[in-house]
Amino acid sequence: MNRQKQLEKLQTTKEFDICIIGGGATGAGIALDAVLRGLSVALIDKNDFAGQTSSKSTKLIHGGVRYLEQAVKKLDWEQYKMVRKALREREILLQNAPHLSSPLALLTPCFNFFEGIYYTIGMKMYEWISGSQNIAKSKWLSKKEALSLIPELKAKRLNSGVLYYDGQLDDARYCLAIIQTAEANGAAVLNHAEAIKFGKNEDNGRLKSLTIKDSMSNEELKINAKVFINATGPFADSIRTLASSKLKPRIKVSRGAHVVLPREVMKGDTAILVPKTDDGRVIFMIPWQDQVLIGTTDEADELSETPQLEEYEKTYLLAYVNRYFEKSVTPDQVKSGFAGLRPLLQAQLQTAMNSDTKSLVRDHEVEIDRRTKLVSIMGGKWTTYRLMAKDTLDTIYTEILKKEVVKCTSEHQMLHGGENYQFEDWQRLTHEYGISTWTAQHLMKKYGSNAQKVLQLTQNQEDLKQLLHPNHPFIKAEVLYVVQEEMATTLDDVLERRLGLKLRDTEASKSVEGFVAEILKENT
Ligand SMILES: Cc1cc2nc3c(=O)[nH]c(=O)nc-3n(C[C@H](O)[C@H](O)[C@H](O)COP(=O)(O)OP(=O)(O)OC[C@H]3O[C@@H](n4cnc5c(N)ncnc54)[C@H](O)[C@@H]3O)c2cc1C
Repeated sequence: MNRQKQLEKLQTTKEFDICIIGGGATGAGIALDAVLRGLSVALIDKNDFAGQTSSKSTKLIHGGVRYLEQAVKKLDWEQYKMVRKALREREILLQNAPHLSSPLALLTPCFNFFEGIYYTIGMKMYEWISGSQNIAKSKWLSKKEALSLIPELKAKRLNSGVLYYDGQLDDARYCLAIIQTAEANGAAVLNHAEAIKFGKNEDNGRLKSLTIKDSMSNEELKINAKVFINATGPFADSIRTLASSKLKPRIKVSRGAHVVLPREVMKGDTAILVPKTDDGRVIFMIPWQDQVLIGTTDEADELSETPQLEEYEKTYLLAYVNRYFEKSVTPDQVKSGFAGLRPLLQAQLQTAMNSDTKSLVRDHEVEIDRRTKLVSIMGGKWTTYRLMAKDTLDTIYTEILKKEVVKCTSEHQMLHGGENYQFEDWQRLTHEYGISTWTAQHLMKKYGSNAQKVLQLTQNQEDLKQLLHPNHPFIKAEVLYVVQEEMATTLDDVLERRLGLKLRDTEASKSVEGFVAEILKENT
C-alpha cells in the first residue's frame, strides 16, 4: 500500500458508495465486507490504522467465559447468544489469518476442591456452546498436572487447575491485514487523515460530503459518498455531534491497562486466567511472543487519545502476579505497558429524539440518524468485528440504500499474508537468506506468506539482515518494508503497530528510534 496512491484514489473518485471514518477493527471490517459486496469504499483514520483501542487489547479471540458465567447466573438469553456468536467468530478469525492468530491454552488455578468442580462445569459448558467450533477439550487437572504446565505457580496454595482453550491474535497487524485485503479489493484507505466537517444536502439535511485533513501535508480534501459510517469506537460521539449537534452522547469509556514482563517469569505456552479478583474482575497472564502480557483493569475514564499505563495500575497488576507466582516479580522487571479505552454503549440511555436506533445484537448497535443518515456502529469487541461489519452493511442495504441485501462473504476471505501460508517455510528462509531460526519464525508470524518479500530487500543490502536490537528477532529490513509497503509514516506507526516493539520493550524501542527516523526521512 502506498499513501500517495491512496490519496490519488480519494482525489479522483467522484463519489464513493460508502465512506468509513475510523480504521480500527470495526472500520477495517466494514471496509473489507463492503468491497467484497461490490461497493466502492473510502476509509480514513485520524491517527494510524489500529492506532487506538484496536492495538491495546488483551489480544484474545474469545467468547468470554465471564460473560457466560453472567448469562447463566442471570438466565440472560441475549448474553448467552452473544457468547455463542463470538465463539463461532473465534473459529473464523483463526482460519482467515493463520499467521496472525493461534489457539491458546489457558489454565484456571483452583485453590480448593469446590472451585475445581465449579470451573470444570463452567468450562465444559463453554466447550459445549462452541460445538463443532471447539478448539480442544477442556479438562480438570490435578495439582501436579497444573504445575507441570506452569511450574512458576505458587505450589502451596494450589489445589488443582482447569484447562481450556481460546484464541490469541496480533491485534495491530490483524487490523492492518484486514485493511490491506480491503485495499487489494479496491478500497481507498488513508491513515493520518482526520474527519473535520460534513457537507449536507440543503433540502433534506442528508450528509453528502466529508472534509478531511491530511496531517502529513496539512491539506484538506473533500470526499463525496452516498453513505457515511462512523466507526470511531470511543470517539463515536464526536462524529455523531459533528453530523448533528442534537444527538445525545451514547458512549462511555472504560480504561484497561496491561503490563509486559519478560518471558522468564512464565516460560511455557499456557496462559493463566485469574477468574475473580478481589474487586470482581478477570485478569489474564498470557505468553505473548517473547514476553508475558498481564491484564487488564477495568474502570470508568475520560476520553483521551493517549491513555497511558499509570503507576497504581502497575502496582495492582503486579500484586496479582505475585499472588500466583512462586518467585516475586518487581516493578523494575516491567518491560513495557499500555492502556486502551473500551467503547461501551451507555446502558438504558434515552435514545435521542431524532435518531432511530436499531439494536441488532446486544453488545453492539447500529444507529442511523434519521435526518443526516449518519450510520454509527458502536460497542462490540475485537472478536466480533466481522459480525459488526455484517450487521452494519445489512442495515445500510435495507434502511438507506433500500436495496436487496447483497450477501456477506467475508467469512471465507483469507486475509493478506494468509494466502499459501506455511509456517514451516521458515526453514527455507533460513537456508536461502542465512538468517537465524529465531528471525525466520518471527518473520513468518508477522508477515505470513509475505515474509520472503521482506527478505528480498536484503538482496542488495546485506546490512538490512542485521538485528534491529540484540534482544529481539526484528531485522532492519522490516523497517524499510513497513514504510514502503504498509503505509507506516511515523515512529509510532513503525515501532508500536507494524513491528510492535514499543509495546513489548520500551527501552529497546527507544534505542532504535534514530535508525527508524532515518528510514522514514529517506522514504516518505
Ligand atoms: C484494555 C482492553 C482490552 C481488550 N481486550 C479484548 C480482547 O482480548 N478481545 C476482544 O475481543 N476485545 C477486546 N477489547 C475490545 C476491543 O479492543 C475493541 O472493542 C475494539 O478494538 C474497538 O475497535 P474500534 O474499531 O471500534 O475502535 P478503535 O480501535 O478505537 O478505532 C477507532 C478509530 O477511529 C479513529 N478516529 C477517531 N476520531 C476520528 C476522526 N475525527 N477522524 C478520523 N478517524 C477518527 C481513531 O483514530 C481510531 O483509530 C479490549 C479493549 C480494551 C480497551
